[in-house]
Amino acid sequence: MTNSTEHSSLRPDGKPLLGVFVAGSGTDVGKTVCTGALLRELRQAGFAVQAVKPVQTGVLAAEIASSPLSDARVYGKALEGVESLVGLPAAAVLHCFGLPASPHLAAAKEGKRLDCQNLRKDILAHWNVVSAKAFLLEGAGGLHVPLNEDEDMLDLMSMLGLPVFLVGGNYLGGLNHILLSVEAILHRGLSLAGIALVPASDPAMGCPGVDVAGLLTDNAHILQKKLERLGCAIPLVEISRVEKLDQAGWEKLACQLRPAAKRIASNWPTAGQESSEQLSEEESLVQRDRSSVWHPYASATNFPPLNAVKRTFSNRIVLADGKELVDGMSSWWAAIHGYNHPRLLDALHAQAGRMPHVMFGGLTHEPAVALAEKLLDIVPEGLERVFFADSGSVAVEVALKMALQYQQSRGETQRTRFLTPRRGYHGDTIGAMSVCDPVTGMHSLFSAMLPEQLFMERPSCRFDQPFDPACLNDARQILAMHGKEIAAVILEPIVQGAGGMWFYHPEYLRGLAQLCREADTLLIFDEIATGFGRTGKMFAAEWADVRPDILCCGKALTGGMLTLSATICSGHVASGICQDGGVFMHGPTFMANALACAVARASLDVLASGDWQQQVNSLESALREGLAPCQNLPGVADVRVLGAIGVVEMLEPVNTHSLQKFFVKQGVWLRPFNRLIYLMPPYVTPKEDMLRLCTAIEGALRQGAHLS
Ligand code: PMP
Repeated sequence: MTNSTEHSSLRPDGKPLLGVFVAGSGTDVGKTVCTGALLRELRQAGFAVQAVKPVQTGVLAAEIASSPLSDARVYGKALEGVESLVGLPAAAVLHCFGLPASPHLAAAKEGKRLDCQNLRKDILAHWNVVSAKAFLLEGAGGLHVPLNEDEDMLDLMSMLGLPVFLVGGNYLGGLNHILLSVEAILHRGLSLAGIALVPASDPAMGCPGVDVAGLLTDNAHILQKKLERLGCAIPLVEISRVEKLDQAGWEKLACQLRPAAKRIASNWPTAGQESSEQLSEEESLVQRDRSSVWHPYASATNFPPLNAVKRTFSNRIVLADGKELVDGMSSWWAAIHGYNHPRLLDALHAQAGRMPHVMFGGLTHEPAVALAEKLLDIVPEGLERVFFADSGSVAVEVALKMALQYQQSRGETQRTRFLTPRRGYHGDTIGAMSVCDPVTGMHSLFSAMLPEQLFMERPSCRFDQPFDPACLNDARQILAMHGKEIAAVILEPIVQGAGGMWFYHPEYLRGLAQLCREADTLLIFDEIATGFGRTGKMFAAEWADVRPDILCCGKALTGGMLTLSATICSGHVASGICQDGGVFMHGPTFMANALACAVARASLDVLASGDWQQQVNSLESALREGLAPCQNLPGVADVRVLGAIGVVEMLEPVNTHSLQKFFVKQGVWLRPFNRLIYLMPPYVTPKEDMLRLCTAIEGALRQGAHLS
């Protein structure tokens, strides 16, 4: 089995990556000198810290110790006269390029490409082998210095999640760069550990006759006010000019940075406290949760196990104790691009600044219109109208109401029931529940108020086996008998999700669509789980080349960032409802929420420009390969894979809680239910993480973690 601590921010001894990221408001603002002075101060205070430069440019590897451009050389000088720590060098440089330029250019010159995932791995690999208490990680230049065409230093900082110490150039015009940097850091959810204002060598910058010193004092004042408004109680250190960086000069700087160094180190647990302190943070959150919050499908008194999450990035979930989990669920199948995708975050921030929300009755806005247009471009042809709602369940309610209103408007008032296959799942609201599986769904609890629907056999013909037309017999019979009462047939195309993770034959959908036409009833596809590429097609309907009259989507619509759904109907349904002055009677307060629409549009842009098809294909191969060993294990009924969905179906229900404990220990996040252990990972999941997910399942079954 793969080592579960590999690429995790925990060392094998359980210690999470500790330290601070030293970033600059620009290039040449004094970042390296501040890092050196912090290093000196912290070492003198007894902390075994190391300055780590993930990327050094302008220096050849052989000249790290000697080149005047080498930051490692500066760190070494900063420690002059400080007792050396045996076995812990002052500095480490992880990547070195000769060209004195931005990391992406310097790397490209040597035929290399840097990326955040690998830089993070290199930093963690170094953390795993070096005996440092904490790192002072120094970036290169400002926050948005590119690491490649897509990623920059801020992306790396986000992935690491360390507090940031910002070094700002204190010159005329410098305040602007500092405030922009503060904003960018806080927008990424990173915390500020402190700010140093460093005087430029020529602070006047060609402004003769101006009281530069006075203006620069005002910089500190404005910055202090801004930090107060943001609620950031952090040290703001005004560094004074040091004429000569000899030992006394370094000592002077170290002294000035003492409050900042103290603050930084105050976040590091002392020996003995280490894991207990982190643990208590998690425990206290779970305790607070238990006295105030109710969780899904859970008891409010007999508490289910809970893990407190601190942050997320890419395909990772980071727990409060620093443990990092490889996500195999995409947060209930929604986070297809992984977490904190920068394009989605940018869209969210931009829209938040412009207009977070406005009512949709009598008003419209660009994010909603553009999203509707984009959706109509990708859904099966013939679907023409988009109705936005807040969640998957509500999208289903809307679809059912549309079907009923459509039938009423054409005089078919007796068509008030819905036909749906057994083992389906469509949500937890009343109407949606009424079309969920009558046995595994929640009918028994709510039968007093659920409308009685018609149920037919589930589509029994497997996706990967020759089609047997007999599997449509039940549908044919019920439609023949009750056709005139049926407003619509509703089902999840190709994949029945929460009702059993069952993959069925596309030919079934073609046959069913034909039967619906013959019975003159509507066909509703619930693509809330299958939409946006999950099955290997943009929409699962494409497997059968069938166009429904109404299609519901949600979940991955916003890339899993915000709640939004859409019910999209044909022109025929829309014009039917609206004939003779008819209107559709639904209108949620948060309909077409502008933030959610803007993020959804960005998510569709990522899908349009990215390689989701190729990513889903690779996940499918990885799932087939990785889950194959489970096929013959005792207790396994079936292993099946379609697109980015992998399922291990057991003969008996599994113990979800004990399995989940096992999985978290292995560093993966999966949430099995009933007899199903399944994976729906984000499309960006790397192959090695797919292997970790699959081996965790195999390991659980071999060790019987599903039984206990
Ligand atoms: N339909 C399907 C097919 C689903 O999988 C789900 C959620 N699992 C829903 C509807 C309900 O969506 P939501 O949880 O957003 O209400």
